[in-house]
Amino acid sequence: MANPLLSDRNVEFLLREVFDTAGLLELPAFADHTLEGCEMYVQNARKFAREKLYPAYKPMDEAPARLEGGQVYVHPLMRELYPRMVELGTITATRPASVGGAGLPIFVATLANSYLMAANLSAYGFFGLTTGAGRLLESFGSPELQQRYMARMYSGEWTGSMALTEPHAGSSLTDVKTTAKETEAGHYLVRGSKIFISGGDHDMTDNVVHLTLARIEGAPPGIKGVSLFAIPKKRFVDAAAGAGALVPNDVQVAGLIHKIGWRGLPSLALNFGEENDCHGWLVGEPHRGISYMFQLMNEARIMVGLNGVSTASVAYQESLEYARTRPQGRPLTAKNPDAPQVPIIEHADVRRMLLRQKAIVEGGLCLVATAARFNDVAEHGATKEEGADAFALLDVLTPIVKSFPADYVFV
Ligand SMILES: Cc1cc2nc3c(=O)[nH]c(=O)nc-3n(C[C@H](O)[C@H](O)[C@H](O)COP(=O)(O)OP(=O)(O)OC[C@H]3O[C@@H](n4cnc5c(N)ncnc54)[C@H](O)[C@@H]3O)c2cc1C
Repeated sequence: MANPLLSDRNVEFLLREVFDTAGLLELPAFADHTLEGCEMYVQNARKFAREKLYPAYKPMDEAPARLEGGQVYVHPLMRELYPRMVELGTITATRPASVGGAGLPIFVATLANSYLMAANLSAYGFFGLTTGAGRLLESFGSPELQQRYMARMYSGEWTGSMALTEPHAGSSLTDVKTTAKETEAGHYLVRGSKIFISGGDHDMTDNVVHLTLARIEGAPPGIKGVSLFAIPKKRFVDAAAGAGALVPNDVQVAGLIHKIGWRGLPSLALNFGEENDCHGWLVGEPHRGISYMFQLMNEARIMVGLNGVSTASVAYQESLEYARTRPQGRPLTAKNPDAPQVPIIEHADVRRMLLRQKAIVEGGLCLVATAARFNDVAEHGATKEEGADAFALLDVLTPIVKSFPADYVFV
C-alpha cells in the first residue's frame, strides 16, 4: 500500500474535535472562511501530496540539483511540480487578500502543509522560503519593494531565499561581514559571501530574490549594526522604475553544498559583488535586520517543528506497513513449530515501538497545531487582551515546537 503520509483521521480529529476551528473562524480576519472550505484546502493538499509530491520524492533525492556554468538546474520533476504548487495556493494561503492571499488561518495551513512536507520536504522548501522572503517585505518593505519583489514572489513568478549565514557566522549572526555601501542612486553596493542558502538558485523561474543580512559601511559593531536587504539575482535595467529587461546583478553561485537527505532543494554558497556591481535595496530601517528576522521567528519555529513532525509521520507510516507485512516468528503461546509465521506487528515489543512512534507523531502534530492556533489569535484576536494572552503563550510554546525534531524524534 502507498504510504498515506499522515493519518487522515488524526488530522480531522484535530481540525474538528480537538480545536475549536469554527470558533477561530468567527474572528473578523477569517470571516470569509467556512469550516468546509478549510477542510477542502487540507483535502486538496493531501491529494496533491499523495498523487504528485510523494512519487517525485525518490527521483529528486537520487538525482539532486546540478550546477553548470554558474546556473543551478533542478530535477525536471520539480519544474513540473512548481506551477502546480503555486496553483494550489501554497505560497499565499495565509497571507491577507490585500496582497493576493487566501487569508486562511495558519492553523489550517499547518495541517495542509503537514501533508506537503511529509511527501516531499525539498519541494515544499522552495515555497516556505518564498513565503518567508515575501513576508519580510510585506511587514517591513517599502511600497516600491513590495510591488517590485513581494508581489512577484507571492504570485509565484519569482522565488525567494534567506541569505543570512556566512562561513564564520552561523548561530552568531552578530558576526555577519557582508558589506553594503550606499550610492546616490538609492541602492547599495553589496559585497560578501553566504553559505547554506537553500533554494538560492534554480531554473524554475526567471529570478530569485535574496533577503540578505549585511552591514552598512560605518554601522555600529555587533547585532545592532546588521541591516536587511532585498537583492535580486537579476535586476531591471531601469532599476529606479523597476522596469525594462532583466540583467545579471552580480550574484554568483560559488558552489553546491552536498547534503544527506533533503537533496531536491539545492543548498548553495553565493558570492555577492565579485565585480562590485551587486545592487541591494534596504528593507525597513538601517541596522534593524536582526530584529525584523526575530519578529517572524514564531512562524519560522512552527515551520521547523512541522518539518520534524511530518518527517516522523511518514517514517511511522512506513514502519507500520512493514510491521503489518513482514512475517517473522510465532506468538509466545504458539506450541506448534510448523504453525505459520505471524506479521511482526503481532509481537508485543514491536507494537510498543510502533505505539511510541505514533504517540510522538500525534502528540507532536497537536503541539505544532496548538502553536499555530495561538499564532492566529495573537495576530487576529478579537480584543487586545485576547491577542496579548495568545502571544505570551506562543512565546512559551514555540521554542519547544522548534526543538521537536532534535529532542523527540532523533533522540
Ligand atoms: C538544511 C539546512 C538549510 C539551511 N538553509 C539556510 C538558508 O536558506 N539560509 C541561511 O542563511 N542559512 C541556512 N542554513 C544555515 C543555518 O542557518 C546554520 O546552519 C545555523 O545558523 C547554524 O550555523 P552553523 O551551521 O554555522 O553552526 P554553528 O553556529 O557553528 O553551531 C555548531 C553547534 O554549536 C552550537 N552553538 C553555537 N553557538 C553556541 C552558543 N553560543 N551557545 C551554545 N551552543 C552554541 C550550535 O547550537 C550547534 O549545535 C541552513 C542549514 C541547514 C542545515
